[in-house]
Formats: sequence, structure tokens, C-alpha cells
Amino acid sequence: MQRPNTESSILIIYTGGTIGMVENPATGVLEAFDFTYLNKNVPELNRFGCNISVEQFDPPIDSSAITPQEWIRIAEIIRDNYDSHDGFVVLHGTDTMSYTACALSFLLNNLSKPVILTGSQLPIGKLRTDGKENLITAIEIAAAKINGKARVPEVCIFFENYLMRGNRTSKVSADQFNAFDSFNYPQLAYAGIDIKYNDGAIMQLPHDMPPFSISTNLNPNVGILKLYPGITREVVESYLAIPGLKGIVLETFGSGNAPMDEWFLEALEKAVKNGKVIVNVTQCVTGYVDMTRYETGHLLEKIGLVSGYDSTSECALVKLMYLFGQNLSPEEVKCQMCLPLRGEISIEGVYCHH
Ligand code: ASP
Repeated sequence: MQRPNTESSILIIYTGGTIGMVENPATGVLEAFDFTYLNKNVPELNRFGCNISVEQFDPPIDSSAITPQEWIRIAEIIRDNYDSHDGFVVLHGTDTMSYTACALSFLLNNLSKPVILTGSQLPIGKLRTDGKENLITAIEIAAAKINGKARVPEVCIFFENYLMRGNRTSKVSADQFNAFDSFNYPQLAYAGIDIKYNDGAIMQLPHDMPPFSISTNLNPNVGILKLYPGITREVVESYLAIPGLKGIVLETFGSGNAPMDEWFLEALEKAVKNGKVIVNVTQCVTGYVDMTRYETGHLLEKIGLVSGYDSTSECALVKLMYLFGQNLSPEEVKCQMCLPLRGEISIEGVYCHH
């Protein structure tokens, strides 16, 4: 069995979520508790083969209350502890964990250490909790090294049995232990009796990596518009007219298709001309947008929509926040949307029109 590297120093950043919750005896409702509760319930932490330190949000928060401000706060904690630690485990509620993983992947520049997000479906104090295994394995992965270097130098989610690239994940179940999936990118590791790493899928770092740094600006003036049959002109036009809106993830059908009504195409074209970046992301969980496949997709491309390729909606949205946060022009944002900045899209053989 693989053992964690005894020389590794791991920082646990406890933000909140079910993993650290307890039942309020009066109401039966789950409430966040102090990290010492977690520590008490996982005595294994004290005899783990590496140095573990903890930073916690005070108070811990349910992940449905997380905002870009908290993403930046986590990035700052990682920056402040980067040199003194070999890896980071972020304990986080599952509800918005995928969004946080996307945000961290963009905010952390030139990352060469593991940042593993995990949480649980059942509080760690419950007998059948999944939290203990998730936490222990996440620490083991964060501590893992090969030839003195981090085994997984990227932002990941570890949940149940799988390690996944964080910006490729979606939460897929509200009640199963297997709560996340990475539909368009292979898992980075499988944790069974041993942890089996999928080396071919893990991020390869360049030899001459610039120093680690973080970005601390995100622009939240973006949104997701999901198409559905019968969507009305009022809905589309009102959405596109939201004051200050800079970018939109348009969730389309199949390989990137949308209605061909004149009013619809005109509304999109007007928005693009006004400097809004509209990213075409499919509602399907697997596969990618190909705006050359059908006439409807082709029309969207012609009026200036940018392809989201095989991105999740979560990732396309957060990437827009990140790019607009860097004060880029709409044209520059379009160009960057076409590039895999952190392994978030696969664009082999696909040509960028921007
Ligand atoms: N509502 C919780 C949260 O996301 C659920 C969980 O932790 O799984 O914070």
C-alpha cells in the first residue's frame, strides 16, 4: 500500500459544508461547527504521516453562500502558505464545489503543488460518513510526490473513489456518495485499495515555470441563459439588456444549436455588437459544441458567438468572470475563451475564429 510522503506539509483549509456539520438537537437541522469537531472525529489526522496544519473560515459557511470573494480568500490563504507547504486540501460544501475548483484553477497562476477539494454527503460525525475517507485520501494525494515533485500539480476534486480535474467537474447527485463526475475528461486517479494515478491525464508542467502568483480580481457581471423550447422574446431580450452584463454562457441544444427565429438571432447579434461576449455551451453533459455541424450553429458563429467547446457551464461562467476581471477587452476575452488556460477545454483539431 502507498504511504504518504512523511516529509510533506499539508495545509487544510476548512471553509464549511456538510463535512464539518452537526445536527442541532432542537431543530434537527445541520449547522456548521468548529473545525475542532472535525479533528475530534478523525483522530487519524493526528497520526498521519505528514505535518498537517489548518486554516478555517470563521464562521464556516454552507457552500451555497460562497461568492467570488471567498474564492479570492482561499487563493490568498494558499498564496500566504505556498512556500511552507507541499499541498493543500480545501474542505468545502459539495453544492458549489465545482465552481470553486474552476475559480481556483484560474486564480492560481503557475501552480506546481496539489490543491485538492473535497467534502462529504454525510457529516463526519455520522457513523456512515463518507467524509473520513474523502479527507484522508485527499491528504494522501496532496502529499504524494514522484521524484521529489508533486504527483498531481493542479486543482482537483477528490470524491468517493475518483480524483478529477476540478474545472472539468459537475455535481451530479444530491444524495449519492458518488456526487461528482468529470464527463469530458478522464479521471486523474482512482482510489481503491491503492491509489492508481492516470499519469497521462495529469497536468504536465513546463520545465521553466514562472514563479507562483495569484490573481485577485473577478468580475461577477456575467450570467447563464439556458435555452428551452418556447423561450420568449421577452425573456431573451430582458436578459441581454441586464445593465452592466459583460458575458453570457448561452446553454444551447446538442452540438451548439439554437432556434433560428429572426428576433432571436438579431437580439444576440445586437448584444455581441455592444461588446458582450456570448459563449455557446451545450446543455448535454458529454460532447462538445461544433458550430459548423448544423446551419443553426453556423448562424450563431457568424453573428459572433464564441464556442465553449467541451466546457462545463460552471467553468465557462467562472472563466468569463476571471477574464473580465483581468480588464481584457471583449475581443481578448473571446480569444482566451478559445484557449485551454488550465486544461479546462479540449480543442484538438478545432480552429479558433477570434
Ligand atoms: N449544503 C452543503 C454545502 O454545499 C452540502 C454539502 O456540503 O454537501 O455546503
